[in-house]
Amino acid sequence: MINVDPLELEKFSQLAHRWWDPGAEFKPLHDINPLRLDHIDGAAGLRGKNVLDVGCGGGILAESMAARGARVTGIDLAGEPLKVAQLHLVESGLQVDYRLVAPEVLARETPGSFDLVTCMELLEHVPDPAVTVEACATLAKSGGRLFFSTINRSLKSYLLAVIGAEYVLKLLPRGTHDYARFIKPSELAAMCRAAGLQVEGVTGMTYNPFSKTYALGNDADVNYILHAIKP
Ligand code: SAH
Repeated sequence: MINVDPLELEKFSQLAHRWWDPGAEFKPLHDINPLRLDHIDGAAGLRGKNVLDVGCGGGILAESMAARGARVTGIDLAGEPLKVAQLHLVESGLQVDYRLVAPEVLARETPGSFDLVTCMELLEHVPDPAVTVEACATLAKSGGRLFFSTINRSLKSYLLAVIGAEYVLKLLPRGTHDYARFIKPSELAAMCRAAGLQVEGVTGMTYNPFSKTYALGNDADVNYILHAIKP
């Protein structure tokens, strides 16, 4: 059994052709990418690393990590975003190995093979995030680092990430996020520990609607990145 919601894959496939349009549905991913890229690079050092990007979509983060000198594999279960990601390599001239495979399946094929595993903005779209966390943990080498980003479950995240982003500011299409699937940092930390990982830290990501900019900091009430190490 694979831990996937077919309706979620369909949603991302429908929008895939607009993945690299920086002003369209995926604008928030384009906007946060330099921040998360620097955060990961600063903590883990991308150059020369063997990196797996889980739920890579159209490849925004995967390509940017390759541009920093990492050997990147990107996996996703939606075919259309992967096609877009593959095509975009022609334009960027970068190299990423894209594959349509579930993290749980790859974890059985090649456990313990990545220096770094990134899994960004995916956990809030799967039925059982603990299963995905476990697969990511299995895929990392011992001593490897993992970065998960998702959305906190709080009144503030409901107001900002659902009502604000989807209805008021229209940063995201309606129905992009299901509040019940949001994950508290404490819950994600518990999933990591259950998967044998050591939690290094949680970094908040905030959006300022007035300046229309994002920033990293201590406020993890809405979006956040969790950094873990596989001992
Ligand atoms: N990680 C990328 C894309 C986030 S969008 C980024 O942050 O830039 C979420 C992605 O997760 C979509 O591409 C969707 O197809 C993928 N996805 C959803 N469920 C999945 C699953 N069970 N396994 C792998 N990928 C999945």
